[in-house]
Amino acid sequence: MSIAQNIAQLKAALPEGVRLVAVSKFHPVEALREAYDAGQRIFGESRAQELRAKREQLPDDIEWHFIGPLQSNKVKDIAPFIHLIHSIDSLKLLEEVDKQARKNGRVIPVLLEIHVAKEESKHGFTPDECEELIRGGALSDLKNVRLRGLMGMATNTDDTGQIRKEFRQIRGLFDHLKNTYFKDDPNFTEISMGMSHDYPIAVQEGSTLVRVGTRIFGEREY
Ligand SMILES: *Cc1c(COP(=O)(O)O)cnc(C)c1O
Repeated sequence: MSIAQNIAQLKAALPEGVRLVAVSKFHPVEALREAYDAGQRIFGESRAQELRAKREQLPDDIEWHFIGPLQSNKVKDIAPFIHLIHSIDSLKLLEEVDKQARKNGRVIPVLLEIHVAKEESKHGFTPDECEELIRGGALSDLKNVRLRGLMGMATNTDDTGQIRKEFRQIRGLFDHLKNTYFKDDPNFTEISMGMSHDYPIAVQEGSTLVRVGTRIFGEREY
């Protein structure tokens, strides 16, 4: 199937209110253009340099999302235009995003990455650390970031029960934070979860943004 067909099929299967982030990391600009021509406007990348290079060659109305581990010294490269950073995994990184956003006269939307998977290699705050960060009030000093919600990845396993449990944990944390700290905040609305192999479960568990790469573009060549 073509990229256009894959996108059409995915979009047809997503409920209203769930948006598709086409994860285009490691794929060439031609592949992104094919997706663009099929109507896709949200693209997710995981390396600042690659993202910038692709952005220069593609139309301006694309929403670029950053989804991978982000080093503090790379924030300035994406701060002028990035639409949403999914992968905030420390207060230090958040402070750097705030600083670079201010320099650019922007407010940058962000998600806090939550670590629920079994793999140690995955990044993010534990649910307790996340709540601690929010309760501590550090965020209210950061006027140039806007917290839009949470992001998380499930363990890479065939055990769908495990995957569902982890997505449910992220959703539970989101609901708790929303009710406790963000009741009157119209910005705290997003739950980014679900990839090629587990997005249907993520959607059932309340995802609002699915990040799908392989299922659209095929295997990546590293
Ligand atoms: C690469 C990546 C994806 C997409 O993974 P696929 O399995 O290709 O759909 C989603 N989220 C993050 C954080 C990624 O790094």
